[in-house]
Amino acid sequence: MSVPVVLFTSDLRLHDHPPLRAALSGADEVLPLFVRDLAIERTGFAVPNRAAFLADCLAGLDAGLRERGGRLVVRTGDVVEEVCRAVTEAGSDEVHLSAAPSAYGHRREQRLHDALERQGCRLFVHDGVAHAVAPGEVTPASSDHFAVFTPYFRRWSQCALRAPSPAPREVRVPEGIGSEALPDRAKVAGTSPGLARGGEQEGRARLAAWLRDGVEAYEERHDDLAGDATSRLSPHLHFGTLSPVECVQRARRRGGAGADAFVRQLAWRDFHHQVLAARPQAATADYRDRHDRWRGAAARDDIDAWKEGRTGYPIVDAAMRQLAHEGWMHNRGRLLAASFLAKSLYVDWRVGARHFMDLLVDGDVANNQLNWQWVAGTGTDTRPNRVLNPLRQAHRYDPEGAYVRRWVPELRDVEGASVHEPWKLPGLERAGVDYPEPIVGLPEALERFQRARSNV
Ligand SMILES: Cc1cc2nc3c(=O)[nH]c(=O)nc-3n(C[C@H](O)[C@H](O)[C@H](O)COP(=O)(O)OP(=O)(O)OC[C@H]3O[C@@H](n4cnc5c(N)ncnc54)[C@H](O)[C@@H]3O)c2cc1C
Repeated sequence: MSVPVVLFTSDLRLHDHPPLRAALSGADEVLPLFVRDLAIERTGFAVPNRAAFLADCLAGLDAGLRERGGRLVVRTGDVVEEVCRAVTEAGSDEVHLSAAPSAYGHRREQRLHDALERQGCRLFVHDGVAHAVAPGEVTPASSDHFAVFTPYFRRWSQCALRAPSPAPREVRVPEGIGSEALPDRAKVAGTSPGLARGGEQEGRARLAAWLRDGVEAYEERHDDLAGDATSRLSPHLHFGTLSPVECVQRARRRGGAGADAFVRQLAWRDFHHQVLAARPQAATADYRDRHDRWRGAAARDDIDAWKEGRTGYPIVDAAMRQLAHEGWMHNRGRLLAASFLAKSLYVDWRVGARHFMDLLVDGDVANNQLNWQWVAGTGTDTRPNRVLNPLRQAHRYDPEGAYVRRWVPELRDVEGASVHEPWKLPGLERAGVDYPEPIVGLPEALERFQRARSNV
């Protein structure tokens, strides 16, 4: 009997895993394979924070397979060559894989399809593993994708979702197929000190705790920077240690306004993925060209100050320092820090997107690049020229200043909301506080941006 290969990519779980389920339905043994793809490592995408989280996920997947009688086979190299090699070793005539929305994912599927066909092996690409609603599943009458979220969400909400499947009880893997050692998180240098732990077990525990204790207050509290009252499930969704279908189904079963608001955010994730699947060039090119002539070399010091969290705007600096420390940032922080770079400093969104991708543990091409474009006004925002005023954002979403005091220790002794405007505090410097003056005045920043955009 043939031994199907299941190629794991960004779907590192055993629960609700259609490719694994399909492979097991017709075979006694399967070969669970993960390839450390050198093409991805060469792009610089495998940054330390994500490499460390990935190591946890692979360890978790291997442990889960071992509990069920199997194990994970890990190889390093060209993904197509390694899959073909595994197919030969196991005598497989089927390979199962989750669909990926990126241009790279499509190329990988095509290359695998062609190479496996030459070996007399069939490739099965399964949709709906990485999404609740797969890219292309709903489209407007006149286009191949939705460019506006609200009508997308209406259609998305009407889609019937499959019932999530449990993890298999048993996974038998043939003897004698060699594997490299699993990557070790402890050996990944340069990670953020407060980086979260990965793995399916961790993800499932977090989801259960979130649905039990957190989601109810999500609608009122999701923007409360200091409250930290969002799910923090994004890295698990990115690495596929959680199934989006399962998250949506369980949240709907939980019910209530908080759960509805959470499900809506999960739809945003699918929304960006369907945009990128239809317009892969949006990963680097403006989705909507606003004829921007971003500041170039003259902005270098401003860019450095932004990256280092030393812009002189405490709320922006707090967000950037949270990113450096945790490899994760609150969504409200992402919005205001990105707006500050792209609009107040008028720096190309790609510069900021790259920096986020260098650090974010949930760094995801579709969600990062398209959220950046949304904020920069080159993406799908229907109000492209809106500018988030960092002071107004600070007073609204960190009214007591607690988020700033947590992440900007120089200001930890400043009480209340006055921490948002340290330049107004008399004697701060005399008190030995080393915190910079604002690198730009907000009125002049706004004028620069409006002038630039009105030249269109
Ligand atoms: C400039 C910028 C860059 C971003 N880069 C990324 C990224 O690389 N990867 C990423 O997963 N998210 C990104 N986001 C979206 C969002 O900030 C994060 O998904 C969210 O902060 C993760 O925290 P959470 O899991 O606690 O979210 P929750 O608020 O608990 O939301 C639940 C889930 O919904 C999804 N979600 C929430 N908001 C969004 C959104 N605006 N767009 C898409 N999906 C969303 C995420 O999968 C998230 O885990 C970015 C947002 C901005 C403004």
